[in-house]
Amino acid sequence: MTKKIAVLAGDGIGPEIMAEAMKVLNVLNSQMNLELEFENGLIGGAAYDEYGSPFPQQTIDLVKAADAILLGAVGGKKWESLEIALRPEKGLLGLRSTLNLFSNLRPAILYPQLANASSLKAELVSGLDLMIVRELTGGIYFGQPRGIRLLENGERQGFNTAVYSESEIRRIGHSAFKIAQKRNKKLCSVDKANVLECTELWREIMTELNQYYPDVELSHMYVDNAAMQLVRAPKQFDVIVTSNLFGDILSDAAAMLTGSIGMLPSASLNETGKGMYEPIHGSAPDIAGKGIANPIATILSVAMMLRYTFNLSEAAERIELAVNRALNANKRTSDIYSEGMIKVSTVEMGDAIIAGLN
Ligand code: NAD
Repeated sequence: MTKKIAVLAGDGIGPEIMAEAMKVLNVLNSQMNLELEFENGLIGGAAYDEYGSPFPQQTIDLVKAADAILLGAVGGKKWESLEIALRPEKGLLGLRSTLNLFSNLRPAILYPQLANASSLKAELVSGLDLMIVRELTGGIYFGQPRGIRLLENGERQGFNTAVYSESEIRRIGHSAFKIAQKRNKKLCSVDKANVLECTELWREIMTELNQYYPDVELSHMYVDNAAMQLVRAPKQFDVIVTSNLFGDILSDAAAMLTGSIGMLPSASLNETGKGMYEPIHGSAPDIAGKGIANPIATILSVAMMLRYTFNLSEAAERIELAVNRALNANKRTSDIYSEGMIKVSTVEMGDAIIAGLN
């Protein structure tokens, strides 16, 4: 069966890094006969320039018909003065809600070759490979009621509501257990069940779901302890599942353990496994057009797509191995360059990874 992929390069460095990711994917597609089909579309500022909207109907139709979406990045100075509804970032939010992408996967991987880029001691982080599964469409970011109200004493009060229904917890729980099964079968659920009833229910449901995944070892941790453990001994974790708010904070902290945002992919999945795959970084307008952006985060996003939407683990592993080989050959784009290494351009890094596929 053919597998349809919508390719949305976006703005800034988006087209440069996507070109390299597509080069790698095309080689793999023909070498392994993966039967992948591609169609390009516009999103963000590029879509606004062409159609007057950051998420035009053409793109909506394209992503609905696709099995997976590969995205570069959106945004840039040129569009910053537009009204909020027309800004490039709105295109991304539109895509997430249109496809109901509730499960956000944020790996933090630190290749041993780059261990010195971390702010932590190399031995604590070298070889780090953990995955944070963040609930993306519920919790306090969306709960009602919310707002700023005027109290009787004339003082203003800001308020939000932390809510999770059983079905929302089950949905993200199933997603996380399945991901744990594809990795090392260790899942840590992070909550604040000692203080927040909302997460007391979260802990109860996660525990209940464990019966469907008896091969996965489930543990629980309070979020304050998890934040501490992430910077004390991050390699104790394999998969972490947590709420929208806690996941937002923990996944950024985990990303920074690795020292370079040019290396980190991400995925957002819906219930059927359809997903959007993108680097965690933005459109980097400061280096756009210079040919020096690191394409590895986007290339590793391709590997995640092959593994999580298409169940093509062998193809995913080949890409990950090829990235490793390019780093072993001392190839570095400027963001990860250190003395004694070979500085390469975006295109040269793509070529080095393709060489590593063989
Ligand atoms: P950014 O991630 O684009 O850049 C931060 C810094 O990291 C910059 O110095 C940049 O040069 C560097 N960098 C980022 N990716 C790199 C790569 N692949 N290789 C080498 N260096 C890289 O964040 P920002 O500067 O805060 O935002 C720039 C624009 O991107 C804004 O318009 C913002 O709204 C948008 N943005 C988009 C997304 C997305 O598309 N998902 C995410 C974050 C920010």
